[in-house]
Amino acid sequence: MDKRRIYLDNSATTATAVEVRDAMLPYFHEAMGNPNSLHSWGRESRKAVDEARESVASLIGASAGDIIFTGSGSAADNLAVKGAAWSARGGKKHVITSAVEHHAVLRTVQWLGKNGFDVTILPVDEYGAVSPEALEGAIRPDTILASVMYANNEVGTINPIAKLGGICKTKGILFHTDAVQAAGHIPLDVRELPVDMLTMSAHKMYGPKGIGALYLRKGVKLTPVLHGGGQEFGLASGTENVPGIVGFGAAARLAEKLFAAGEAERLTKLREKLLDGIVERIPDSFVTGHRTERLPFLASVCVRRIEGEGMVLRLDFVGVGVSSGSACTSGSLDPSHVLLAMGLDHATSHGSVRLSLGRETSEDDIDYVLGKFPPIVETLRKMSPYKG
Ligand SMILES: *Cc1c(COP(=O)(O)O)cnc(C)c1O
Repeated sequence: MDKRRIYLDNSATTATAVEVRDAMLPYFHEAMGNPNSLHSWGRESRKAVDEARESVASLIGASAGDIIFTGSGSAADNLAVKGAAWSARGGKKHVITSAVEHHAVLRTVQWLGKNGFDVTILPVDEYGAVSPEALEGAIRPDTILASVMYANNEVGTINPIAKLGGICKTKGILFHTDAVQAAGHIPLDVRELPVDMLTMSAHKMYGPKGIGALYLRKGVKLTPVLHGGGQEFGLASGTENVPGIVGFGAAARLAEKLFAAGEAERLTKLREKLLDGIVERIPDSFVTGHRTERLPFLASVCVRRIEGEGMVLRLDFVGVGVSSGSACTSGSLDPSHVLLAMGLDHATSHGSVRLSLGRETSEDDIDYVLGKFPPIVETLRKMSPYKG
């Protein structure tokens, strides 16, 4: 029996790094103070939160005062989009986003569309990217905000964020980017990027689950989604998740160290080997997403005449954890909204597989997957109801 376990679903979540976990541990028990308390227990927690805020800010070239910790990446997306829409004045009521956003943005914008706002959902090209021309053409005098993701979580395509943000700046509208898949994996610098708001999530970058952050450029006004004690500059009430925040800070410092050590280049090489190997060995398979404007760690393919679920389950059986675009949300069998927006038909998009590599992925792991994957497809095709 093969006992190998190869986790290739790092876009869904990453393991909390051991260094990160160790940094968090004291804040569950010994250093358990509420950072809003005046006594020494409270002050100790406040200091830890402040230090973590510095680390997360430094990862993206921001100042600590521009980082708002939230309960998740989804919470940060909701705060950015609803917060900007609700604080708009002067009769402005138009919000723009793209068809391939994570549901934390897409469903939030759609909800605004049913609650008094006008919405434009931008199409994408065959790679899943938003064109600057399309964005420019959609902006109206009453546009409040555009929200376009930095990099897509299903196909890894990186959007031309500098251009998109530049257009928004010129037109005087707010620009938000969901950078959950990018932050901690590729260098981001808000001193150079024309973005007003940027979302991050710790558990996608080797931090703990249940803690996100929104970068908010100075001077941008948001209406809070949560009301209460006024924590996080009044924008995310609720007692701070101190262990989570500390873990986020440690994860940010670790990510900076690994950039410097060439982790993105290492992963890009492995990703290319995996993509080339799959399309060479599996007939009627192709890469989805852009081949070069792409997250270093994310490989995604479509295998024609096969159901993604079948491949996921059989790869799991040989110890390889991947995901399929067609089942990624709540076990639903709806094809991925991302692949459909890229122009794939329903049947083809059901055959999508995402393999997202991580810090623990080795070249040996890639060789193992390249050995196991083709025969699995062959077996499934023999059983397949599709006529090829
Ligand atoms: C995972 C993810 C989110 C949501 O983050 P959570 O912290 O899990 O709520 C948002 N956007 C993208 C692109 C993601 O990949």
